Amino acid sequence: MNVQRPYLFKPDKEISRTYDLDGTHELGLPGISCPRCGAWSTVGSEYPAIAAKDLPLALRRAAKKGGPISVDEWQSLRSAVGEALPADVQWEPGTQFGALLADVKGNLPDVAWLTPWTCLLQQRAYEELLARGFDLRGRTPKLKWIRGTPAKLMEVDVRPGVRLAGWRSHQPCEICGRLALTAPDTIVLDRKTYDPSIPVQRIVDLTTYIVVSPKMKEAIERMGLSGAAFPALQWE
Ligand SMILES: [Zn+2]
Repeated sequence: MNVQRPYLFKPDKEISRTYDLDGTHELGLPGISCPRCGAWSTVGSEYPAIAAKDLPLALRRAAKKGGPISVDEWQSLRSAVGEALPADVQWEPGTQFGALLADVKGNLPDVAWLTPWTCLLQQRAYEELLARGFDLRGRTPKLKWIRGTPAKLMEVDVRPGVRLAGWRSHQPCEICGRLALTAPDTIVLDRKTYDPSIPVQRIVDLTTYIVVSPKMKEAIERMGLSGAAFPALQWE
C-alpha cells in the first residue's frame, strides 16, 4: 500500500492575528510533583469529547482537589482508574477534558485556534467534513463573544496516534514517567506508526503538534476553509 506522507496542521499566522480566543476546558487534571523533575503538567493533552461527568470518580475528585500531587498519589490515581478510559486516551498530569469555555474577540475563520494545539471548526465545515466521510469527533464549545459576530463552532477532539522517529530511544523519567522533549526544527515521524485513516491526530511524543492526512488537507483546501496552514514534515 502506498501511503502518502501527512502534513502538520497549524494556525494560519496572518489570520490568527485577527481574533483572540481565551479559555480552558471544563476539567483539568492536577499536575504532579516529582523529586527529580519538579512540578510539571503536560500541554496539548485535551479530550473535549469526553465530558467531565463521564470520567471515573477518582479523576473528578483529583481535578477538584487540584495539585500538584505527589508521585504516590498519581500512582494510586492510575490504579483506581485502571482501564476505565478508552485506549487512545493518554491521560497525564494536566490533561484536560470536556467542553471548552472561552471568550472570543473578533470574527473567527473556518478553522480557529485557541492555541496551535486546540482546533475548532465552524459547525458547517465540521458537518461537511463528516458528510465527506472523515471520522471526526468533537464537542460544542461554550463561547462568549466580547466582540465580533457570534458563530457556531465545534472543537475537534484530536487523539494521540503517530510517533516521532526514534521514539523507542526516548528515556522517560524513571520516577514520574515524564518525557521532556523539545520539538526539533524539522519534525520527522516514524512512518510505521502512522494510520492514514485517522484524519487528524497528535504526535504522541509532542502532543502540541497535530498531523493531518493528505485527504483531509485536500478537502479543507477544496472547501476553501480559512484559518489553517499545512507545513511539510518528514518521515522515515
Ligand atoms: Zn520525574
